[in-house]
Amino acid sequence: MPTSEERALRHKKAMQRKKEHIDGRIAAATIDKGLLVVLTGNGKGKSTSAFGMLARSVGHGLRCGVIQFIKGQWECGEQMLFADNPLVEFHVMNTGFTWETQDRDKDIAAAENTWAHGAAMMKNPEVDVVILDELTYMLTYGYLDKEMVLSALENRPEDQHVIITGRSAAKELIELADTVTELSEKKHAFYDGVKVQKGIDY
Ligand code: ATP
Ligand code: MG
Repeated sequence: MPTSEERALRHKKAMQRKKEHIDGRIAAATIDKGLLVVLTGNGKGKSTSAFGMLARSVGHGLRCGVIQFIKGQWECGEQMLFADNPLVEFHVMNTGFTWETQDRDKDIAAAENTWAHGAAMMKNPEVDVVILDELTYMLTYGYLDKEMVLSALENRPEDQHVIITGRSAAKELIELADTVTELSEKKHAFYDGVKVQKGIDY
């Protein structure tokens, strides 16, 4: 059995090695640039992660834009929190889910109108962070032209961050992105019959 001093010494040495490794990796990361972050997958946490980054950005005084492509039935807490914030420009495509409108032409017109706000933000170097919430569905349904979206992303200001959320992100979006997280569903209370909960779900 090692004595407690031996254990403490071994721990200290292991932590020193870990610190050297981490410090080395931090020192090697020298690039400063606008990131494209994609949050995809079937698990819960995509939009809330994006709004977490919005909260961080607003906290730092960054100018932000939020485009929500699908508005649910419930008024989202994040919209209430940020809509009147002078740092945040909010645009919501308020047609509801596509299976509720059941009108493809109307959906396409709404998607294009909503996209126009995002496209304008991606031409404006004064906007630091753009969130395109639930954008992936606009590509899946063919409501927005994929090439047009990719081109706007590629040609945006160099230091502008863009965060895209939604299930089944197109492979081109994943290729273009700098950071991609796929959230996987292990469990969701909904399948046990639990209603949407204020604060957790909207
Ligand atoms: P959140 O906004 O909670 O981060 P999300 O953006 O990852 O969720 P969406 O597909 O946009 O997921 O769904 C939005 C709503 O549907 C939220 O109310 C969320 O709790 C719920 N939801 C998310 N994932 C699932 C799931 N796997 N099964 C059922 N409901 C889900
Ligand atoms: Mg979402």
